[in-house]
Amino acid sequence: MPRLAVLGHPVGHSRSPAMQNAALAELGLGEEWSYEAIDAAPDAFEARVRRMADEGFVGANVTIPHKGAALALADESSEIAGKVGAANTLVFERGSIRADNTDAGGLLRALPGSPRGRRALVLGAGGAARAAIWGLAQAGAAVYVWNRTPARADATYAEIAAHIELGGAAEESPRQEDYGIVVNTTSVGLHGEDPFAHLPLSPAKFADQVVVDMVYGKEPSALLNAAERGGAHTVDGLEVLVQQGALSLEIWTGCEAPIEVMRAAARA
Ligand code: NAP
Repeated sequence: MPRLAVLGHPVGHSRSPAMQNAALAELGLGEEWSYEAIDAAPDAFEARVRRMADEGFVGANVTIPHKGAALALADESSEIAGKVGAANTLVFERGSIRADNTDAGGLLRALPGSPRGRRALVLGAGGAARAAIWGLAQAGAAVYVWNRTPARADATYAEIAAHIELGGAAEESPRQEDYGIVVNTTSVGLHGEDPFAHLPLSPAKFADQVVVDMVYGKEPSALLNAAERGGAHTVDGLEVLVQQGALSLEIWTGCEAPIEVMRAAARA
């Protein structure tokens, strides 16, 4: 019985078990495979992960606050996980732990088209931002980074630009109408904050752009509502979650992920 799980702290709110178990059932693997949520505090995380292979786990997703620790404890890692500095996917195989990162690929798959040649503005400089910056740069966008704490935007931009052509800059006062793609990777909106009070965006200045909000909740975010009213194509955080989960599932099972089923389960 191959087992899968998502490890986080807290993790009770995660949509991943519903989404992944629906996918396993759709693939005809529901009788054998299972996917559960495991709450692990930071000081217990490494020991918990190291027991998993013996308990029948073949893989795991990792979420806040463990993505850095997951990469650090792995025996091997994919290029993108190493470059982003975080892992959201682990594979337990032949006594070894392999780390991967599907957050970057998940964001790209959630976009309505290729970002190649477009100017992308990433808001934030934390873990989600790093994955977004890498993914967008690898896909050929020119990437600009704004952060509430500008020094962190400068540091993140410089560190990533040392490894891959970003073609943009760290921006302290970006003009939102200059960007074809805007990605909010900050946590603004998670607790109902007004995005236009905290981010360098105006509800009146959206146009024919792609606007992604990595934050997700039960209702569409205030940011995406305003972007849609302004004529933008919007992508919410649940769609990104579905796409990163689909890539993880494909890594573990080798099967093509049933996206529609995963999307419906994540939104149920
Ligand atoms: P993180 O590393 O803690 O980074 C948080 C970022 O938010 C920092 O850039 C921080 O700026 C900024 N921020 C926090 N409060 C702010 C405020 N009031 N005004 C402006 N900026 C503010 O977190 P993370 O791991 O990157 O995650 C960020 C968000 O993305 C979370 O809400 C998470 O749930 C979401 N996420 C979604 C997915 C998905 O699949 N949909 C995947 C990953 C993450 P400073 O540097 O100035 O503190």
